[in-house]
Amino acid sequence: MIVGILKEIKAEENRVSMTPAGVEVMKQNGHQLLVEKAAGNGSGYADEAYERAGAEMVATAKEIYKRADMVMHVKEPLASEYDMIRKDQIVFTYLHLAAAEELTHALIKSDSIDIAYETIQKADGSLPLLTPMSEVAGRMAIQQGAKYLEMAQGGHGVLLGGVPGVDPGTVVVIGGGVVGTNAAKMACGLGAKVYILDLDLERLRYLSDVMPANCIPLMATPATTRKLVKEADVVVGAVLVTGAKAPKLVTKEMIATMKKGSVLVDVAIDQGGCFETSKATTHGDPIFMVDGVVHYCVANMPGAVAKTSTQALTNATLPYAVEIANKGWKKAMQENNEIKLGANVVKGKVTFRAVAEAFGLDY
Ligand code: NAD
Repeated sequence: MIVGILKEIKAEENRVSMTPAGVEVMKQNGHQLLVEKAAGNGSGYADEAYERAGAEMVATAKEIYKRADMVMHVKEPLASEYDMIRKDQIVFTYLHLAAAEELTHALIKSDSIDIAYETIQKADGSLPLLTPMSEVAGRMAIQQGAKYLEMAQGGHGVLLGGVPGVDPGTVVVIGGGVVGTNAAKMACGLGAKVYILDLDLERLRYLSDVMPANCIPLMATPATTRKLVKEADVVVGAVLVTGAKAPKLVTKEMIATMKKGSVLVDVAIDQGGCFETSKATTHGDPIFMVDGVVHYCVANMPGAVAKTSTQALTNATLPYAVEIANKGWKKAMQENNEIKLGANVVKGKVTFRAVAEAFGLDY
């Protein structure tokens, strides 16, 4: 199969959908790789690295769409690409179609096979192509929290780990899933006093088993949240209610009781955010203040650490890309239910219920 790796064109997106190491593996499986020129630049991969791995560098996205049997992206195709997508072409990328009506109609019209990273699902319900980005965002949340605690950044001047003889900072993580666990791990590693809150008792039992002694898993209740945010230096919002907007767990009234110069990092902002005062920000302008509390609400946190994120993403997507390329989309979907669940639009028909329901389309 001819596989095309496109350059990302969405603002602030520096990732690329495959590393040169991934290209080498695809080649070993007998595939021909086309990589758009400069596609890897934002992640630190020069064109020569792709060429050494066996790829052919191609000047334009148009040529890739024209020649490739399967195209890969990180972000969804933008309007300028809609007409380039060909009949029977496989498009494998994050699509988030339930929030993108125009793109959904463009994919239906194109008669292509559109497989979304985010809906590929394992039998245990986990979403293997979302997990690595949640790992990145969770770890990064603490890095950002620690940075914005610095006085020059608007923080109140607390070092999260403290020093011998001085109290460490307090971190409260709301939501103990992938983002929350990774945030808590990083905060614990720095030596902070860490609370992690979740509604799921089994999850709390697990966290209690695996987390270090400076992490205290607690049942998430409004009373516990109200009490802990007052003590916190950094609060990380990391909840997810599948298919729904994030619940507003920290209210304006609670935020008014927080220490001036403490920091809120709302990782759940891509689902609307779990702090009442949150609104989405960008890497270019990442914070704003409410009641003296720093709010960091960047919706695509992994984009800031493109090199790590690109490697983490390729680690997760590559086995699926290899399987789709080796077997063709039909056989891959017949033999691997995880890939079948990734199918969102197939040859003019929506094949993912939430997308069909979002726009009143046949399913
Ligand atoms: P996850 O499903 O692994 O974990 C979510 C956790 O929240 C679960 O353990 C669940 O029990 C818990 N939860 C649900 N309701 C709760 C409540 N009321 N109180 C306390 N806990 C509650 O999800 P995840 O992968 O950790 O993702 C968390 C959020 O981060 C999602 O909204 C995701 O989209 C977002 N995210 C954002 C970025 C970014 O760049 N901003 C990157 C990756 C993920």
